Amino acid sequence: MRPDNETYALPYCPRPRREEAAHSWLTRVAQEYGLNADSLLGHLLPEHNATFCLERAFYAPYVDSLSKATRIPRRTLSKLQGAPLDWILQDRRYCNVCIRCIEMDALTGTKPFLRLEWRQAWKTNCCIHGIRLLRTTLNFMTDGVHTVDGARECQRLRSKSAALEGTLDRAFATKLKVIAVIRAVERMETAIDRAIGGHDPDNRIWGPLSASEFLIVVQDVTTWALSNFECFHARPEAEDLPTGVRIVADFYFTMMPRHLPPFASESDVRTLRKTAEPGLRAAALWWAEALLAKQEAYKMVETVHPPARQWRLLKRRGPTGLYWLLQQMSAWPRRYINQQWMDLGSILSLYH
Ligand SMILES: [Zn+2]
Repeated sequence: MRPDNETYALPYCPRPRREEAAHSWLTRVAQEYGLNADSLLGHLLPEHNATFCLERAFYAPYVDSLSKATRIPRRTLSKLQGAPLDWILQDRRYCNVCIRCIEMDALTGTKPFLRLEWRQAWKTNCCIHGIRLLRTTLNFMTDGVHTVDGARECQRLRSKSAALEGTLDRAFATKLKVIAVIRAVERMETAIDRAIGGHDPDNRIWGPLSASEFLIVVQDVTTWALSNFECFHARPEAEDLPTGVRIVADFYFTMMPRHLPPFASESDVRTLRKTAEPGLRAAALWWAEALLAKQEAYKMVETVHPPARQWRLLKRRGPTGLYWLLQQMSAWPRRYINQQWMDLGSILSLYH
C-alpha cells in the first residue's frame, strides 16, 4: 500500500502515437509492466474499482492523477478521447477497426493499434479509407496479427469488408435510394461531429437547438432506436427499419442476436456507446436523421418537414418505446418541440 500523499510515478512510460485511442495507449503502458490496462489503473488511481470504466480516467478529476503518474501532460491525455465520455465506445470485449488501417500498420512494421476515431460512438466509417468499420475483439488488437488466431481474424475481417464494400459499390451505381440512405447516416455523423466541436446545428435543417441540446436529443432518439422496450425478446427499432430502407439497403445494417434484455427486466437501455456493432449504430443514426432533420424527398424537389415524417415512421412502433421517448422529451426545449415535432401523444392515444 502506498501512502495517500505520495505521487505514484512510473519510471518509464511510452508516449501516445498520433491518432491513438486512450484505450490503446493505456494498454501499451500496462504491457510494459506485465499488466492489463485495468490492473494498471488499479495501481495508479485510488478511485479505481471493478465498475470503473477505463475511459473515465482521461477526464477530470482522474486525469490529474494519471498525468502525474505517467508524466504525460494532462492536455495530451485529454486529447486521446476527443469527445465527451457519453460518446466514447465502452465495450470491454469488442472494438471497431478499419481493416485497411490494420494492414497499413502491418506493412510498416507497426503493431496494429486502436485509433481514436474508432472509439467514437457516432462514427461508423474510416475517415482515411472511407470504408465501414467492423467489429472485432479487443483481444485481437492486444495480440496482434502475427498469431494464428490473429491472422485468421484478419482474414475474416478482410473478406467481410470486401463483400460489404463490393455490394455498396454496386448498389451506389444502380440505386438512388441506397445513396439517400447512406447519405442520411453521413449527414447525421457530420452534425454530431460539429455539435461535439461546439457548433450549433443548422436550424433550418435541425430546428432551434444549441449544440449541447442537439446532442441530448440525438442521444435520446438513438437510445430509443437501439433499446428493446418490450417485455419479450423483440428487435429494437434499429433492427426493424422501415420497409423502404430495408429493401434497398439491408446489407449495410446489422441484425444482432436477440440477447438484449427487455425493458421490463429493469436493465439499462442500450445507447450508442454501448453498441459495439457499427452496422447497428448506423441504423440508429439513420433513424435519428429521419426523425430529426428537415430534408428533401428522394425524387421530388419539395422538402419534407419532420412532423410529417415522424407520423409516418412512428405510427406503428411499440408504445412502450414511444412512451419512453415522450418522457425524455420533457427535458428538450419547448420551442424546439413545438416547431419540429408531432404530438407523440396522438399516436399513443391510438392504443387506448
Ligand atoms: Zn482506414
